[in-house]
Amino acid sequence: MATKKAIKYVYFFGGGKADGNESMKNLLGGKGANLAEMAGHPALRLPVPPGFTVTTDVCTYYYANKRTYPKILTAQVNASLAKMEQLTGKKFGDVNNPLLLSVRSGARKSMPGMMETILNVGLNEQTIKGLIAQSGDERFAYDAYRRLIMMYADVVMEKAAGIEPKGGKGIRKVLDEQLEHIKKQYDYKSDTDLTADQLKELVKSYKKTVRKILGKEFPDDPAEQLWGGIGAVFASWNGKRAIEYRRIEKIPHEWGTAVNVQAMVFGNMGDDSCTGVAFTRNPGNGENQFYGEYLVNAQGEDVVAGIRTPAPVNEYSMNEQSKHYTSLEKLMPALYKELYSYQKRLEKHYKDMQDIEFTIEKGKLYMLQCRVGKRNGVAAVRMATEMYKERLIDAKTAIMRVAPNQLVELLLPMLDPKAELTQIVIAKGLPAGPGGAKGRVVFSSAEAVEWASRGEKVILVREETSPEDVDGMHKAQAILTTKGGMTSHAALVARGWGKCCIVGCNDIEIHQEAKYFKAKNDTIIKEGEWISLNGTKGLVYEGQMPLVDIDIEKNQSYKDLMKLVDGVKQIGVRANAETPEDAAAAVKFGAEGIGLFRTEHMFYGEGSEAPLFELRKMIVSKTEKERRAALNGLFKYVKQDVKATLKVMSGHPVTIRLLDPPLHEFVPHDKEKLRQLSKELGISMSMLNRRVLALHENNPMLGHRGVRLGISYPEITEMQVRAIFEATAELVKAGKKAMPEIMVPVTVIAHELRHQKEIVDKVYAEVCAKYKMKRIPYLYGTMIETPRAALRADYMAKVADFFSFGTNDLTQMSFGFSRDDIGGFLPKYLDLKILPDDPFQTIDQDGIGQLIKAGTDNGRKTKPNLKVGICGEHGGDPASVKFCHRIGMNYVSCSPFRVPIARLAAAQAAIEHPRRKK
Ligand code: PEP
Ligand code: MG
Repeated sequence: MATKKAIKYVYFFGGGKADGNESMKNLLGGKGANLAEMAGHPALRLPVPPGFTVTTDVCTYYYANKRTYPKILTAQVNASLAKMEQLTGKKFGDVNNPLLLSVRSGARKSMPGMMETILNVGLNEQTIKGLIAQSGDERFAYDAYRRLIMMYADVVMEKAAGIEPKGGKGIRKVLDEQLEHIKKQYDYKSDTDLTADQLKELVKSYKKTVRKILGKEFPDDPAEQLWGGIGAVFASWNGKRAIEYRRIEKIPHEWGTAVNVQAMVFGNMGDDSCTGVAFTRNPGNGENQFYGEYLVNAQGEDVVAGIRTPAPVNEYSMNEQSKHYTSLEKLMPALYKELYSYQKRLEKHYKDMQDIEFTIEKGKLYMLQCRVGKRNGVAAVRMATEMYKERLIDAKTAIMRVAPNQLVELLLPMLDPKAELTQIVIAKGLPAGPGGAKGRVVFSSAEAVEWASRGEKVILVREETSPEDVDGMHKAQAILTTKGGMTSHAALVARGWGKCCIVGCNDIEIHQEAKYFKAKNDTIIKEGEWISLNGTKGLVYEGQMPLVDIDIEKNQSYKDLMKLVDGVKQIGVRANAETPEDAAAAVKFGAEGIGLFRTEHMFYGEGSEAPLFELRKMIVSKTEKERRAALNGLFKYVKQDVKATLKVMSGHPVTIRLLDPPLHEFVPHDKEKLRQLSKELGISMSMLNRRVLALHENNPMLGHRGVRLGISYPEITEMQVRAIFEATAELVKAGKKAMPEIMVPVTVIAHELRHQKEIVDKVYAEVCAKYKMKRIPYLYGTMIETPRAALRADYMAKVADFFSFGTNDLTQMSFGFSRDDIGGFLPKYLDLKILPDDPFQTIDQDGIGQLIKAGTDNGRKTKPNLKVGICGEHGGDPASVKFCHRIGMNYVSCSPFRVPIARLAAAQAAIEHPRRKK
C-alpha cells in the first residue's frame, strides 16, 4: 500500500544547500524564501548561518486549530536542528558547546518591526558556561543571557500570553529601567560599560522580576524556549500593531507568517565584530552606489532601533552625523571587499535593489537577510530607468517597477528655495524622505492622530519611532526624529510611504513631559508651533514656509520613464481642465487632450464676479426675453473662455461640457447681491425673493440640472453652442487646429440628445454662414452618468459620436450614496470591510464596472468605432485606469497632476493585459 507523503512543514537551508527558494514566498515568507535562495542558489551560495523555516501553512493551521501544531512538526523541526548541529559542530542545549538560535517572523511582504524576534534562544544557567568557553568572554555571555530574558519575557511570557501590563508598563520597560538604574548608579554612558559581574547580577534580578510580575519562571529548558518562541511569532501575527499595519498596507490577514529559526552569529563579540544594514543602491535618491551603515560590537536590532547613530560602510554613505566615524571599508578592508562583492552578486541575481543585513563575528562575514529594498518614488524612477539602461532589466520590467502613485512624490511640493535663503536653519538631520512639509509640532503618535482628526497639519517629532507609532506617522505631514540613521524604523516606514522625513537630527533635544524641543541655537519650539522641513536636504526651519511645485521637466529619469511608458500604453490620457493655465500644465504632464472642460468653472474664484452676475440674472429670469438678455451678457465670457483653452490645446481634442450648474449653489443669499439683481432686472425685492424661493429643490443633485436645463430653456444651449462654434471658427481661420467636442451632461434617454442636437444643428448652420465656412470641426456626444443612460447606451449611441463616463454621478446614482455626504458612514463601511474601498475614489468594478462595460459594449453595437472615455475622478486612479484599459476605452481623463500617474498605470495595464492590435 502506498503511504501518503507527509506534508513538509519545515524547510532547511545552510551549507550551500536549501530545500526552498526565492519563488516560495507564499509558503516560506519573504525572509525565509530569500534565506533559502542566498544559501542554496548556485549563483549565490553566500555564507548564511544554517537554519530552517516553519511554513505559513503552520500559521494557518495554528489559528484554525486552537493554537496547536500539526503532529508531525516536532519531528521535522528536530531533524532540521540535527542538520544545523552537524554543520555548526555545536549542539542545542549542550553545556560545553551550545548552539544558540534566533527566532524571527517573516511574512510574504515585509512588515518592518511589526512582529516579534527572540535572540540567543538556548541559553540557560548551564549552557552559558559553554558560551563563555566558546567566546572567552564572560561579559558578552551574560549580556546575551540578559537580552534573551528580556526579549523572551516580553514577547513570549507577556505579549503572546495576552497579559495586559499593569498600568500600561510592560515587562520590557520594567527590565529596561533596571538596566538604566545600574548605568545611572555607575555613571555609565553605554550598555557596553557594564561589567560581567554587574550583568550577572542583572540576570538574577531580571529572573526575579519576571517571576514576580508574570508569576512564572523564565524557562531554562532550551526546547521550551524554542517552542515558546515559535508560538510567540505566530501569535504576534495577530498583535494589535501588526493588524494595524496590515490595514494601512492592505496586506490580507489570511496570509499568516512563517517562522525562521537560525544559528546565532554575534556582531557583539568584541571590536572585530559588527553588524549592519546596507542597500545595493541608495534608496533615498536611487543613485547606483553601495550604501549602508554598521555598528561595531552590536547586535542587529541596535541598528534598526536607532539607539546609536551608526557608522557608514563606505565614504559614499557618510553624512553629517556619521562623518566622524571610521567606515567599514577603512576598518576592515578585506571584509568590506567581500561584502561589496556579495551585494553586487545579489543585485545581479535578483535584478533589483536589495536591502541586506550582515554580521561580522570575530572577523567572519555572514549574510543574514536580503530582500527587495523599499525606496521612495524619486529613487524608484531613477533605479528603474538606470537598470534598464544598464541592460539589467527590460523596458517592461522598468515600467512595472514604479508604482503609479509613487510618481506623486516626484511632483511633491518642496520648500520654496527663495524662502530658504532668507531663513535660519535651526537643526540639521539626515534626509530620509524627500520633499518639503510644514506642520504644527506634536510629540506623540496619539496626539498626531488626534490633531489630524481635527484637520490640523502636524509634524510628528520623536526621539525615535517604533511600530506603535505607525498610525500617527501615517497621519502626520512629516516625521522628524532625533536619533537613528537612514535605516531606522522612521526612515524605513517614511520611505515606504513617500513621506517627508528627517532622522538622526541630534541638533534638537526633546523635552517630552514639558512638550517642547530645544534646537542647538537655543530656539525653543513648543507643541502646536509651526516648523518646516526640507526632507531632501535634512533641514529644519522655524515657522511656516511656502511650498512650491517641482519642475518635473528637469528630472531626466522621469522623462526616460515616460518615454518608455508612451511606447507601450494603448489608451489615451487626457486631463480635466477649465483654464488655459490648467490646460498648459496638462500638456506639460503629457495630456493628449482635454476630456472634461466644465463650463461652470468661470463662475468660481478670481475674475468670476461679472460672469457670475450674468448667470444669476439668467437663473432668476422668468421670461425668455429676460433670460435671453442675461445670456447675451454671458455669451462673451463663455466664448472667450472656450477660445483661450481651444487655442492652448490646438491639435488636441477638447471636450466642452454644456452647463451643469447646481443651481442652488449660484443663487445669491446676501442682501446686497440680491438688491443689485433686483435693480438690474427691474423687479421688486419681494418678487425676486419669490423667484429665488421657487428655485429651491429638495434634491438638487437629482433636480433641474444638466440637460434638463437645456430642455427647459433651449436658449441656454443655443448660447453655449454658438460660443463654441464661433470660437472654433475664428481659431480655424487663424490657422489653429481647434477640435471641440460638445458634451451633453446628465442624460437619461436618447430623445434628450435628439432635442439638443436640433439646436446644435441650427446654430451650426448659422455660424457656418456667418463665417462663410463650409465646415466647422466638432463632435457631438454625451456623458454617461446615470444608470439608465448606461443601460440604454445602444440608443444613446445612435445620436452620440462619443461617450464619456461621468463616474462621479454614476457612482452616486447607482449606489444611492450622496457624493457630498458619504463621509458620515463610509469610514465604518471601510473598517468593517463591507466595502473594500471608497467607491468615489476607485471604481467599484463589480457593480459600477458592469454598467460601464455594458454601456461601452452596447454603444459599440450601434457604432463600432464609438469613442469612449471616462472623466469622473476615477480617471486618475491607477486601478480604475487599468480597468478602463481592460474594457476597451479609448482614453481616461483626470486632473492635470494625475496625468503622469494615469499614463504609467495605462502602460502597466497594456503590459498586464495587452490589447490585440487591430
Ligand atoms: C461625473 O459625474 O463623473 C462628472 C465628471 O461630472 P461632475 O463631477 O461635474 O458632476
Ligand atoms: Mg456629473
